[in-house]
Amino acid sequence: MRGSEAPVRIAVLSDIHGNLEALEAVLEDAERAGAAAIYSLGDIVGYGPSPVRCIEIVRSRAAVSLIGNHDAAVAGLEPLEWFNEYARRAVEWTRGRLDAGQIDYLGSLLHIHRGPDLLLAHASPVEPERWHYIHGLADLGEPFALFAERLCFVGHTHRPGIYAVGRRREAERCGSRRQLGKGLRHLVNAGSVGQPRDGDPRAAYALFDEERETVQLRRVPYEVARTQQRMRAAGLPPFLIERLAAGI
Ligand code: ZN
Repeated sequence: MRGSEAPVRIAVLSDIHGNLEALEAVLEDAERAGAAAIYSLGDIVGYGPSPVRCIEIVRSRAAVSLIGNHDAAVAGLEPLEWFNEYARRAVEWTRGRLDAGQIDYLGSLLHIHRGPDLLLAHASPVEPERWHYIHGLADLGEPFALFAERLCFVGHTHRPGIYAVGRRREAERCGSRRQLGKGLRHLVNAGSVGQPRDGDPRAAYALFDEERETVQLRRVPYEVARTQQRMRAAGLPPFLIERLAAGI
């Protein structure tokens, strides 16, 4: 602790997916929680009805902004045959809404960000342009050989989780609040702001307190029905609209 100085807190957001209502709710919560900076792990667009507003908010406010596979597809950097029918339709719909500057912005984003003993990526940091999923302990393989840093934040699966590896190299899944102790390494999946898939429809993000060395997975309710209404008006696939309410 540094006396009266405010702790340095960072809101780590991933998979916003064009969901403005969820993004605004998360930004309000992050501000109340004292976050001084925003990091975006990618997939700003795809699925949701508000790609333009979400890009503009991230572009103007995020200190770090990485590319996700949907951003890459919208920017024409990723072949669409890798996407299922619903995702593909959403990518095409999104592309038709953006101007050249917004498409260039998505295409200009990097895959990886490295800070002091910190690594950020949308998917696995190994071959990041291939978007490997890290679903849980099994995908971590030899505990945390995927990266060298003490702390790594990812998204992509839309399922939040904190994973730790201790001195004896045993890996474990932790709860939603974690003290990042000495000698331990952590991988944190921030979950998805705009389309959670862990059965909880509330928006998800991670709050990282650099000074206290804590990470917290936070959930924020938002007006799902309003996002769904806008998706319907935009003619987005019904499956994408329905899944928001169930968080799947
Ligand atoms: Zn995503």
